[in-house]
Amino acid sequence: MIHYQLRCAAGHEFDGWFASCAGFEHQAEKRLVLCPVCADTDITRALMAPSIRPKARPAAASPAAPALPVPGPKPTAGALLPDHLRIALRQIREEVEKRCDYVGPDFANEARRIHYGEAEARGIYGEGSESEIESLADEGIEVSHIPWVKLSDG
Ligand SMILES: [Zn+2]
Repeated sequence: MIHYQLRCAAGHEFDGWFASCAGFEHQAEKRLVLCPVCADTDITRALMAPSIRPKARPAAASPAAPALPVPGPKPTAGALLPDHLRIALRQIREEVEKRCDYVGPDFANEARRIHYGEAEARGIYGEGSESEIESLADEGIEVSHIPWVKLSDG
């Protein structure tokens, strides 16, 4: 939100709040901004005034409209993954399926065998319980957990 000091053609000043600079220009152009005193629609930003006064006040002294950071979308509990994230995860899944061997529930054992050189070194993916994954981490075996998204919608 941007706060403007507004002024009508008759010189009445009042406050206006707009989502952006463009918001004010748009509403003023469409004559949607009314003076609360005389209902005049010829409204200008009072903030513009100092710049037409010669020398009296340097332009730098005029208060600029504060540029507030636009808050991002609020995370909603239980919301679906945003599209871009789902697409990224889908690409990861496709990549993993293309390049890695699926070892199913034997994942932890197979990861251990690879780590200790008992099985061919390769990328694998599969399922493991939390405790299995924890014990892998304890042994210094790095595994990644990838949220497994459906490949198609619905
Ligand atoms: Zn007025």
